[in-house]
Amino acid sequence: MDELSVDLPLVHAGKVRELYALGEDRLLMVASDRISAFDFVLEPGVPDKGRVLTQLSLWWFAQLGDLVPHHVLSTDVPAAVAGRAVVCERLDMLPVECVARGYLTGSGWLEYQASRTVCGVALPDGLVDGSRLPEPIFTPATKAALGEHDENVDFATVAATVGAETAAALRDLTLAVYARAEGIARDRGLVLADTKVEFGRRRDGTIVLADEVLTPDSSRFWDAETWRPGQRLDSFDKQYVRNWLLDESGWDRHSGQAPPALPDSVVAATRQRYLEAYERLTGSPLPAR
Ligand code: ATP
Ligand code: MG
Repeated sequence: MDELSVDLPLVHAGKVRELYALGEDRLLMVASDRISAFDFVLEPGVPDKGRVLTQLSLWWFAQLGDLVPHHVLSTDVPAAVAGRAVVCERLDMLPVECVARGYLTGSGWLEYQASRTVCGVALPDGLVDGSRLPEPIFTPATKAALGEHDENVDFATVAATVGAETAAALRDLTLAVYARAEGIARDRGLVLADTKVEFGRRRDGTIVLADEVLTPDSSRFWDAETWRPGQRLDSFDKQYVRNWLLDESGWDRHSGQAPPALPDSVVAATRQRYLEAYERLTGSPLPAR
């Protein structure tokens, strides 16, 4: 995508999104088609991915509206970024990656094998990769500076960073978002294994749900039909690309080298998964441009 197609002051260029200032209090948040894995931006991008992230987030914000206020003000955006951008409130972001997990996998599974805990939460023996947890848990991470990995932390670390009251509010809101979304996904034949959300504050202190929500980039969705703990799962998220990089590309994750370019077939299969996640969740195909 062409960053210069938007003639506004650039506030932040992330791996996936760009933020532009719209006066003092508002931002234009643009989701690109870039895809990142293992903290690298991969080449090439995945066509339509930015529109899936933006349209799916909008759909979820509406499903969650009674639980927590969200940051979107309008979808009236410059034509160059139509469909993949929103106008949102400019918030003071809380520096916590708020993760809820209902199932054990990824970094949670790694930590569990070493310590029987995830982010300081003790878990029962005998769980395997993909196991459903006895109840959903809040497993926060610190937001890493550019180029560093996010780090899983315990609740006390969040409380020390943002204060005990705010930490408790973030935990309760994150678990409420997960519970609502897990039920909706389940009705549509998808398991929501985990999700990451971000919150910010208005000037009056109100905590607001921001960034993207419940997309294949921020969440793990599995097909409920084929979910079996201990087996590799059909997923509608970035896991497909991660698996290709680790198992088929010949890339060594620990080499420090950038991963190889994605073959056309992997780009196409990834695009299909993002579109399918959108369609299965919302019940409609992604609207044409
Ligand atoms: P990375 O490149 O590691 O992904 P990132 O998460 O900072 O870094 P993006 O997700 O691409 O990059 O960009 C989105 C950024 O916008 C995040 O830093 C997020 O915290 C921030 N953000 C999201 N919503 C708002 C908002 N309403 N007000 C201010 N900042 C926001
Ligand atoms: Mg981000």
